[in-house]
Amino acid sequence: MELSIETDITCPHCGEVFPLQIDTSQSDQSLIEDCTVCCRPISLSVRCRPGSIIEIDITG
Ligand SMILES: [Zn+2]
Repeated sequence: MELSIETDITCPHCGEVFPLQIDTSQSDQSLIEDCTVCCRPISLSVRCRPGSIIEIDITG
């Protein structure tokens, strides 16, 4: 099973969409990723199960 899934994230700062790899081996995670376009940090709350993403909340 592929546990690392690529999904598209919309940056809340600049509005650009970019791909992000999510490690679905952890069911609930809080991440901070830098936008690949404007380089500002994005806080994400991710719910997933192994192999699939249930929900992603962009919290800031
Ligand atoms: Zn951005």
